[in-house]
Amino acid sequence: ELRDDTIIIVFGASGDLAKKKTFPALFGLYRDGFLPNGVKIVGYARTKMDEAEFHKRSTSYIKDPDQSQAPKIEEFKKLSSYVSGGYEDSASFENLEKHLKSIESAYQSKVTNRVFYLALPPSVFLPVAENLKKHNYASGVNRIIVEKPFGKDLDSSRELLGALKQHWTEDETYRIDHYLGKEMVKNILILRFANVAFSAAWDNRSISNVQITFKEPFGTEGRGGYFDEFGIIRDILQNHLLQVLSVLTMEQPVSFAAEDVRDEKVKVLRSITPIAREDTLLGQYVSANGKPGYLDDDTVPPNSSCPTFAATTLWIHNPRWEGVPFILKAGKAMNEAKVEVRIQFKDVPPGLFGNISRNELVIRIQPSESVYLKMNAKVPGLYTRALPIEMDLTYKRRFSDSKIPEAYEALILDALKGDHSNFVRHDELDVAWKIFTPILHWIDGKEGPPPRPVPYPYGSRGPKELDAFVNKFHFTRSSTEYSWPITNVA
Ligand code: NAP
Ligand code: NAP
Repeated sequence: ELRDDTIIIVFGASGDLAKKKTFPALFGLYRDGFLPNGVKIVGYARTKMDEAEFHKRSTSYIKDPDQSQAPKIEEFKKLSSYVSGGYEDSASFENLEKHLKSIESAYQSKVTNRVFYLALPPSVFLPVAENLKKHNYASGVNRIIVEKPFGKDLDSSRELLGALKQHWTEDETYRIDHYLGKEMVKNILILRFANVAFSAAWDNRSISNVQITFKEPFGTEGRGGYFDEFGIIRDILQNHLLQVLSVLTMEQPVSFAAEDVRDEKVKVLRSITPIAREDTLLGQYVSANGKPGYLDDDTVPPNSSCPTFAATTLWIHNPRWEGVPFILKAGKAMNEAKVEVRIQFKDVPPGLFGNISRNELVIRIQPSESVYLKMNAKVPGLYTRALPIEMDLTYKRRFSDSKIPEAYEALILDALKGDHSNFVRHDELDVAWKIFTPILHWIDGKEGPPPRPVPYPYGSRGPKELDAFVNKFHFTRSSTEYSWPITNVA
């Protein structure tokens, strides 16, 4: 349900996330008519700025190359305002309350609805959540949207969630993992459960191994101080890639209702054992081709052993997946930008063919969204020879008229509608931390000297040890004969 006369309040409105993601997503929803009637947006942060400055900042990342959206942007500015104040003191929140009340006095309805979006560092999550409940709780619907990081390990996550729960119920809380808002991640449910051809082969009888890969072509570039506290596992694997894994491997939910889906995700996550050290490969990028290494970043502590690359293998102990390695791998300063799922099927039994490529189903999450199945076909001609080819569903070609929504647009709309399906439930987070906490403590040096990540050159595919690592988990690179005739679609 979308309630008319709702106020959306964005905390940390002066920050990076708000500017780059939250406000552009709110604008996209407004432009396309998806925000509730009478909606108002309020930005809040400590930074002192006048309304003009706030409007300039909050619209600075809206893409409008030909200025065609200028009138809509003006309308959007008119429905947003800014309040400056602290995060810890009651007076600031009482002042915010006055502002909200003055907006609501113009509303027809006596019932007020408020959505609070916390684009804030975790150090102030708690005081803000507490103050909001105390001073700004509306008479109608109240929702609070929060962003990772949700703690640093199992204990700290439990502590944070427990403290938030004293003020906000699970039903009112929307924990964002923005990967769940991505079109191709949402597509996994349809691919799997709407296609017998796929669902029939979706198990350890047909599938040899699965890789879920995240690659970024740049390093920390001066923001390493923040990154060093978390490392690549907390940044990408424990949340984003594990979410993709759970959607990929869960049993069919009873319905698409939020709790039905999330019940299945939790169930499959609970079948995963904590990651073993020997199933882990850690890397750190070093200077190459004129690009600086991680340790050359002045904001990184000298001699840091923080991994900027990690590959970990997870095992799901249930009848469907027993024995199938799921390799989650992610790295910064790599050779390319891509996020993909690569499902590699088993070899055809020997006999008819000697050396023939395995089938692979690739779900390209970004960029250039696509699903392609690498398969073998007969080379046309008067002889019998098999050649690897692909069935290709490239979105830009097949859905040339559709616009793929931004993840944040999809998620904010879900939160406005009260749909929790694509948000992280408390018990889901708990199992996610259980899987990763032992290796994280080892890497943090809590169990003796921390492991030293192996070096890899900036701009490479990762450590040289990577190929042996994936091969150990049954991955076989397709025949090098394979080539793709069309270069990337623009
Ligand atoms: P940010 O720019 O560092 O912080 C947002 C705002 O919070 C700042 O403008 C600042 O506003 C206030 N703030 C910063 N440090 C503070 C401190 N120590 N104490 C009190 N207030 C402080 O952070 P962000 O990149 O926007 O990210 C916000 C949240 O989203 C974080 O939890 C982050 O992990 C998460 N996140 C970010 C991204 C992204 O793309 N940036 C992606 C996923 C998740 P004032 O000083 O004006 O109050
Ligand atoms: P591919 O290059 O044949 O295979 C990629 C896989 O092999 C990845 O697992 C990669 O690992 C690994 N790999 C790459 N180079 C390697 C090396 N030197 N040694 C060992 N392993 C290596 O690419 P593909 O994804 O299967 O698809 C074939 C082509 O079709 C690609 O050019 C792809 O871009 C194109 N295609 C594009 C679209 C589209 O953009 N919409 C659609 C269909 C096909 P890492 O990931 O760890 O590097």
